[in-house]
Amino acid sequence: MATTADIVCVGSGHNGLVAAAYLAVAGKKVLVLERNEWFGGGVVTRELTVPGFRHDQHSMAHIFIQANPLLANDDLKLKERYGLRYLFPEVPMMSVFEDGKTLSLYRDSQRTYAEIKKFSARDAEAYREISEQARAWLPMFTSSLYSPPIPLGAQFALLDQSREGRDLFRVMSMSSHDLLCERFENDRVRMHFARIAGENLVAPDEKGTGIGTFVFLGFLEAYGFGVPVGGSGSLTNALIACIKDHGGQVLSKATVERIKVAKGRATGVVTKDGQTYDARDAVIGAIHPHLLGDMVEGIDPIVRKTAEATQFSEAACVTVHAALNAPLRFKAGDHVKAVMIELLPNEYEQLRRSFDDLRYGNLAQYPLLGIGSLTLFDPSRVPAGKAIAHIWDYAPYKRRDGFSWDHKKGEFAQRMLTHAARFIDNLGPDDIVAYHCDSPVDMERTSPSFMHGDLHGIATTVYQSGAHRPTPDLGQFTVPGIDRFYLVGPFQYPGGGVFGAGRATAMRMFEDLKLDFEKQGRKK
Ligand SMILES: Cc1cc2nc3c(=O)[nH]c(=O)nc-3n(C[C@H](O)[C@H](O)[C@H](O)COP(=O)(O)OP(=O)(O)OC[C@H]3O[C@@H](n4cnc5c(N)ncnc54)[C@H](O)[C@@H]3O)c2cc1C
Repeated sequence: MATTADIVCVGSGHNGLVAAAYLAVAGKKVLVLERNEWFGGGVVTRELTVPGFRHDQHSMAHIFIQANPLLANDDLKLKERYGLRYLFPEVPMMSVFEDGKTLSLYRDSQRTYAEIKKFSARDAEAYREISEQARAWLPMFTSSLYSPPIPLGAQFALLDQSREGRDLFRVMSMSSHDLLCERFENDRVRMHFARIAGENLVAPDEKGTGIGTFVFLGFLEAYGFGVPVGGSGSLTNALIACIKDHGGQVLSKATVERIKVAKGRATGVVTKDGQTYDARDAVIGAIHPHLLGDMVEGIDPIVRKTAEATQFSEAACVTVHAALNAPLRFKAGDHVKAVMIELLPNEYEQLRRSFDDLRYGNLAQYPLLGIGSLTLFDPSRVPAGKAIAHIWDYAPYKRRDGFSWDHKKGEFAQRMLTHAARFIDNLGPDDIVAYHCDSPVDMERTSPSFMHGDLHGIATTVYQSGAHRPTPDLGQFTVPGIDRFYLVGPFQYPGGGVFGAGRATAMRMFEDLKLDFEKQGRKK
């Protein structure tokens, strides 16, 4: 086994793999070390319940990566050569209200217009305006998401130079709730879009979330929600195949404890079992800001302190993965078919109050359940006629009742299933072959990126966004004072989600290693 490589990458999450793959294709000898027995971090498909049922343990919809040149140009030939394929269902997202009403967001904005018109003709017009604005802003969003961020001061100065920029700044500063109340009159329509913002683990009342509606809608209508054939892990598999094809290695059960630094330059890593792996050129690390100080030798104490002060989202995530005897039958009707299905109360205020409950460390009075049953689109993941469901809810990481999540997660999973059964006819004990639940604590056990059960690693607040994510020191994927050490992770720019953001880290590395990013690591 090689103990020296050009590039050593700590962690096989998709972002580390993306960065490593660009470098491997550019001719660097790459070694990826993963602490788990499996690869992919949050982009993984596993038989979590019974053999033959393949569940996406974390991410299931690949949304923001679709505009990344990694896939849009097939830079690394993941589609052409390494078997990555996506389905794009016509309804990415649907709200199902408790009284049986539904509201679908289609890729086709005309059809969404007609859906919203069922609730309010005025809101349908307002939606049209938002959709058009989102389409107009989309090229600006996509041009900035997959390369290193511009400094925050420069970004704000740029926005302040035009009316359009100032409009955008206003929306960026508002809460989703403020924006939705300004634009829509109907509470169901408001709630539908507020829940979309909530998928970022933020309450609709959180300031600085208004822009999410435009980003989400712009992507959803232009690209759809990508459902990887075979499961989320197909992306990980394609990236690993690419790395190996270019002479790289990817090892499991290798926990990195320390980044070696000599004369202010990262020179390799040391694993838990005492093995040293040297890096001739650079080290890439999926290392949470709260862990950097303990793992990186000689880190500046102020950089460390600021990194450890990064804050988590108020909501942590709990998931239930169920193996089912048959596809789900929704009480609202057979038309309920979308990548993400949100189970919502009849009153918008109830949704807002549930997010408030989380803020005070309580369980949400009304569960905030979302469901994906991707066997609706890709039956290859289960035995013939069977199905799977991925159900998620939000909860505080630290329970107010003092019980541990290990003690209480079974009860919480039952609460989730019972609530979902109010919307679904066949989700009783006889319908479920087996299920697996990940509490916020399990979530952080699967990857330190999901510390505190925060599926974005740290909160997506204004002060932890853009070039200041996770901190102003670390916002350019580098650590001041430590050369040739580069960061990846959901806590880095642009944030949590399957973005393929490792591309931006790779760009930074290509520059330092005097490689031409435009020429190498691209589809020929
Ligand atoms: C429940 C859940 C549902 C989600 N759903 C979606 C979704 O539908 N769509 C979407 O876009 N996003 C979703 N996300 C978010 C998305 O999964 C993550 O943002 C993304 O996977 C982060 O990728 P990453 O490569 O940056 O980090 P990770 O996937 O966390 O990868 C980091 C890897 O590094 C390894 N590692 C860390 N430290 C060490 C060490 N010291 N030594 C060795 N290995 C180490 C970890 O084990 C892990 O494998 C979801 C997340 C969760 C938790």
